[in-house]
Amino acid sequence: MDIKSVEGLVAAGLVQHADVLRPVTEKYAVGITPDVLALIDVNDPDDPMARQFVPSAAELVTTPDERADPIGDLTHSPVEGIVHRYPDRVLLKAVHVCPVYCRFCFRREMVGPQGLGTLTPPQLDAAVAYIADHSEIWEVILTGGDPLVLSPRRLREMMARLAGIAHVKIVRFHTRVPVVEPDRVDAAMIAALKASGKTTYLAVHANHPREFTEAARAAMARMADGGIALVSQSVLLKGVNDDVETLAALMQAFVENRVQPYYLHHPDLAPGTSHFRVSIARGQALVSALRGRISGLAQPTYVLDIPGGHGKADIGAARIVGSEGHYSVRDWQGVEHVYPPPAEDAD
Ligand code: SF4
Repeated sequence: MDIKSVEGLVAAGLVQHADVLRPVTEKYAVGITPDVLALIDVNDPDDPMARQFVPSAAELVTTPDERADPIGDLTHSPVEGIVHRYPDRVLLKAVHVCPVYCRFCFRREMVGPQGLGTLTPPQLDAAVAYIADHSEIWEVILTGGDPLVLSPRRLREMMARLAGIAHVKIVRFHTRVPVVEPDRVDAAMIAALKASGKTTYLAVHANHPREFTEAARAAMARMADGGIALVSQSVLLKGVNDDVETLAALMQAFVENRVQPYYLHHPDLAPGTSHFRVSIARGQALVSALRGRISGLAQPTYVLDIPGGHGKADIGAARIVGSEGHYSVRDWQGVEHVYPPPAEDAD
C-alpha cells in the first residue's frame, strides 16, 4: 500500500518521531509506492533512496534565495495548465499529483493533494485551444505532476485531442512511473501514449542506479519495444548522486535500458531544499569527470533553469562565468542573469 502520511512513515519504520515531521508533511505532500519502499534501506541513515522520498526536518529550513515558483512557470502561463516559455513548445500540466513526492521537487508548492489540482474539462478545453491557436507550437510536453497517473482511457483522449492539431509533431511525457510504479506500464498505457502522425517521447526521471530494478528495466523495455523514444532526466542531488561513480552508473543504466541521457538538472531553488544543493563548481567537476570516464552515449547535458522563468542554460561550462555565489549565466536569448538572484527578487 502507498505511504501518504506521517503515520504511514512511522508504521513502515521509516521515521521514528512523527511530531517532528508533522509540520513538514502539513506543508508538502508525502508519497512512497511499494516499489520505492522496497528500495529503501532503513538501516542506513544516509540511504540515497530514503533521502529522495522520506521527509526530513531539514525541509523546514528555507533560504532567502528560494522561491515558491523557482523556474517561473507562472510568469509564462497564458492560460491555466499551459506554460509557454520557448516559441516552439509548451508544457501542458493536466494533473498536479504524482505517485511519489520527491523531497527536492521544484514544483513542490504546486503538486500534491493541496496543490493546483487537475484541470477541469473547461480548463483543458482552453489549454488545447491555446495549442491549436498557436501554429508555432511543434512540441507539447505533458508534465505536472506526473501525467502517467492518468488512466489509459484519459491518456488516449488527451492524445486524440493533440492528434487533431496538425502543427504539433512531438508529444513528450515527463514521468517517474516506469521507476516508481513500473507495473502500471502495460500494453494499454503504451498504446494510449501513441497517436497517428505524432512522435511520442517519454522522459524517465531517475536519480540513482538502484532505481533500475528488474521491474523498472522491464517497464522501460516494454516502452522502447512499443515504439516510444526514451530520454532521461535526473537532478544532481547532494547525498544521492553527487559522486562520479554513482553518476556514471546512473547514466550507463539509462543507456543500457535504451534511455538516451538528456538532462542533468542543477537543483532548483525550491523552498526547503537547500540540503540537496551542490555547488555549480562541483556539478561542473562531476560532469567533466564523466566525460573522461564513460561513453559519449552516456553523457547528459548539465542544465540550470534560470530563476524567474528565463529558461534553461547549459552550465557544463561555457554559458556560465564567475565563482560560487557570484555567477552570471546567459539565457537562450543571450541575456545575462546573476545567479543566485538577489534575495529581494525572491517571491
Ligand atoms: S515526480 Fe516530479 S513533479 Fe512529482 S514530486 Fe517528483 S519531481 Fe515533483
